[in-house]
Amino acid sequence: MADCIFCKIVEGDIPAQKVYEDHEFLVFADVKPQAPVHHLVIPKEHISNIMEIKDQDLLGRLFGVIQKVAQQEGISEKGFRVVNNCGDDGGQTVGHIHFHLLGGRFMEWPPG
Ligand code: 5GP
Ligand code: ZN
Repeated sequence: MADCIFCKIVEGDIPAQKVYEDHEFLVFADVKPQAPVHHLVIPKEHISNIMEIKDQDLLGRLFGVIQKVAQQEGISEKGFRVVNNCGDDGGQTVGHIHFHLLGGRFMEWPPG
């Protein structure tokens, strides 16, 4: 979609540090990391947020990617956090669905 930063990253028009890619998903490092490991997991298809998902199985496949990347990044045993911010009140700032994968340090709860 035009004017979507994450679509531009998928297209290669904006550079990103890619950590995983397949035909359906891309995982890249967050430009402003909040933890030693902070990656964004996105479907390549432009979907705005959780409410716009039509194929529920996509989420199962996406979590399969999260499992792979957590192993690849060495955070699968100590643990990690997966965050999705949906809409304005959820704190979503980029309108292309993404799941934050955060690890490498202890995560406080509750979030602010
Ligand atoms: P949100 O607040 O929408 O859940 O998260 C958006 C995330 O995207 C933020 O953590 C922000 O740092 C990250 N981000 C925004 N623009 C870019 C960019 O151009 N490249 C990368 N790698 N991350 C970005
Ligand atoms: Zn997009």
